[in-house]
Amino acid sequence: MAGRLRTIEDLGGLDGRRLFVRVDLNVPLEDGSVADDLRITAVLPTIDELRGSGAAVVLGSHLGRPKGTVVEDLRLDPVAVRLEELGRFSVQKVDEVVGDAVTKTAAELAPGEVLMLENLRFDPGEEGNDGPLADALAGLADAYVNDAFGAAHRAHASVVALAERLPAAAGRLMQREVDVLTRLLGEPEKPFVAILGGAKVSDKLGVIDALLPRVDAILIGGAMAFTFLAAQGAATGESLVETGHLDAARETMNAAERRGVRLVLPEDVVVAEEPAALVRVETVRARSIPPGLKGLDVGPRTVEEFTRVLADARTVFWNGPMGVFEVEPFAEGTRGLARAVAAADAFTVVGGGDSVAAIRRLGFEGDVDHLSTGGGASLEFLEGKDLPGVAVLREEK
Ligand code: ADP
Ligand code: MG
Repeated sequence: MAGRLRTIEDLGGLDGRRLFVRVDLNVPLEDGSVADDLRITAVLPTIDELRGSGAAVVLGSHLGRPKGTVVEDLRLDPVAVRLEELGRFSVQKVDEVVGDAVTKTAAELAPGEVLMLENLRFDPGEEGNDGPLADALAGLADAYVNDAFGAAHRAHASVVALAERLPAAAGRLMQREVDVLTRLLGEPEKPFVAILGGAKVSDKLGVIDALLPRVDAILIGGAMAFTFLAAQGAATGESLVETGHLDAARETMNAAERRGVRLVLPEDVVVAEEPAALVRVETVRARSIPPGLKGLDVGPRTVEEFTRVLADARTVFWNGPMGVFEVEPFAEGTRGLARAVAAADAFTVVGGGDSVAAIRRLGFEGDVDHLSTGGGASLEFLEGKDLPGVAVLREEK
């Protein structure tokens, strides 16, 4: 991954210029308003800096998956409202992605003013990395800043084709995300402990394999632990097991052993018939789950063991909750791990949409060095891929 990331400094003087700023304001909405504003607060430093330098800012983001058509519930208006509140500046919101009205409004922006385009994915050209859409967006500004790390693994028009059409640079959030994750790929301080959990093994085997040469230990929880346990012949009851990935899980465990990486699976788990608030729960040995019951969280002995490993760590990467943390009887494992990560005398990074939501919900946000705003993007980055939206911002494009 050679090539220095171009940054805002590389764009030269910004006074009186118009910048297209790609942001990832793909936030969860509930009843028509923003339910989690991490992605909004995360881009404020870049927007403030650009406005402060005398630039006018045209913001473009996607929201959800409208698949190239207008979906009323996925308009960006609630996001613009929250951005105004949090940023304490006014945001002019237009109802189209491109078109004469948009061009006119953009042309009339004064220094320091902020315009927000409509959901970029309403236009079929966005996901198609379409030239004509990129041309139209390029016509709105004289330079481009990408602060949308969460979208950097997508070769979409506002991420790649647009960056090829204007002087392009990384925003401050993009810079920090790339710096932090590059540090994990480079020479992280040892011991380096990775914690992997969440729903699907199939999403995460790639990153586990990529981490094996770098880490000292891998702690596995969440639903994905059951595919590993089942691969060793354990009785997993009704727990989620991806039967198509048993061989891959076995191969990963062998690779860990060959490399001398400790791969630690849960010793005990919290089981129930369903992940419901009022269901009967019990803690059982992870390798002998009674028939009919599902493993829905890691148990207290597992939390203790994982905590012991984390106590010595100097670098920690965590992706994927330890259990169904959304439902209180199954949140304790994730809470215990969050406590251990928070207490570790280590450089700590948490990535993944649900993992970051869990850390915030459980109140440990301030105790982690970096919460990545990119779920899929951070995993692909750690797999060693140069993301298309990052590659295009490097010096030799
Ligand atoms: P992230 O978004 O952080 O990458 P994932 O999307 O992979 O994480 O996984 C998060 C989901 O995994 C959560 O909704 C959580 O309820 C679920 N989950 C965790 N453990 C289990 C389990 N034992 N059984 C079923 N679902 C689980
Ligand atoms: Mg998720």
